[in-house]
Amino acid sequence: MSEAARKTVLGIVLILAIGAGIGWMYGRPETGLLIAAVACLLWQIRQLLSFERALRTGDFDDFRHGEGIWEQMFSRFQFERDRAVRRKKEYRGLLREIRKSTNAMPDGAVILDADNEIVGCNRAAKELAGLRRKKDRGQRVDNILRDPELTRLLLANDYTATINMASPVGHGGWLNCRVVPYGADQKLLLMRDVTDRMRLSKMRRDFVANASHELRSPLTVISGYLDTLAEAEDMPAGWIKPVMQMQAQANRMKMILGELLQLSRLEAAGPASLDDTIDVVQLLERSKQAFEGHAHVAAIGVLAESAARLRGNQSEIETVVVNLLSNAVRHTPRDGTITLAWRSGAKGADLIVTDTGEGIDAEFIPRLTERFFRVDKGRSRDDGGTGLGLAIVKHVLVRHDADLVVSSEPGRGSTFRCRFPADRVVDVPIAEVS
Ligand code: ADP
Repeated sequence: MSEAARKTVLGIVLILAIGAGIGWMYGRPETGLLIAAVACLLWQIRQLLSFERALRTGDFDDFRHGEGIWEQMFSRFQFERDRAVRRKKEYRGLLREIRKSTNAMPDGAVILDADNEIVGCNRAAKELAGLRRKKDRGQRVDNILRDPELTRLLLANDYTATINMASPVGHGGWLNCRVVPYGADQKLLLMRDVTDRMRLSKMRRDFVANASHELRSPLTVISGYLDTLAEAEDMPAGWIKPVMQMQAQANRMKMILGELLQLSRLEAAGPASLDDTIDVVQLLERSKQAFEGHAHVAAIGVLAESAARLRGNQSEIETVVVNLLSNAVRHTPRDGTITLAWRSGAKGADLIVTDTGEGIDAEFIPRLTERFFRVDKGRSRDDGGTGLGLAIVKHVLVRHDADLVVSSEPGRGSTFRCRFPADRVVDVPIAEVS
């Protein structure tokens, strides 16, 4: 028991004793005790009421004169209250600092709860995406920023994926968005202004497309004359070889320009339609027939492990198969084997081209889909490669929400696996396939 509590108890006992004593002097000790007890009770009630009033009004001046245990309770309360006020001030200062630093960030940051509702955002989010800190609080972010890609990103819960979306503020702005986990059950939507990068990449795309287009007409004229020249009966013997070489190079240039234009078209186009379905097994069989039987071509087999159809663009997927197959044919000796496989599962479907050819060094694998990248430059040119085949494959796959996984072992062969997500695959029971 504290000193103050002891004093209070002693005080009460004393008053009761005095009351009983006075009562005893008048021959009525119980009445004296009762009067003293009522006096004690009234005194305590008075202290309690003034303490309650002080709590209610926040004005403790009236309560300065609390006594005994009340005085102690009062000073304890005041100490705690001062500490809470100090802490609140500190937290407020800290919060102000954090807000200042998040507001100084050039990237937009939006705090979302588990239902993708806005909890808060920084100044850059307001400037880049037009979000209003107070008015938009509690609203679903995908109801305010309406972009199918963003909706998909928020649903995917994939913390490595990023998307580009047009900024709803101003004209022609672009934002790169990603989601990262934050706190308990919350997420942070980060937005970066990539307008300049997008503009530059569009300029590059337009330049390549325009240059390819402009070069096509003069090249058509040159190769037309070369064809006429090659057919001329009175051509001097010494000219035959150079003219044939010029003809071959002109055709090669035509092929490169055609592929560059194809790449530009693929880059500019959005996602491939989900409405058309492709019978992949049939496509693999057709491609196999187009390649096999030629001299120097290895044995080609088709492994149809699924009858599932693929949602997408038939001619683009055919381009993927033809490019992968023609690479396999060019890099696999006649006594090797090439396998075209199609399999599906719960996570999606895989189109796989495997060969037992020369293989690729691990250091080159990440660069294979770069434009004009070749492992062996001289050889690739000689065997008709443009260096654009795998870049085209990659862009077609991007349009089909798919990715390319390459694995290879030098001297043993390579595997090119195109992975399509489940929403691009339509399952067909084997019985329905004739
Ligand atoms: P290219 O038209 O030169 O074949 P690609 O873009 O199709 O260009 O391929 C890039 C490079 O990747 C090729 O030059 C080749 O060196 C390598 N490559 C592609 N496929 C295979 C394969 N199946 N086996 C070995 N190397 C390959």
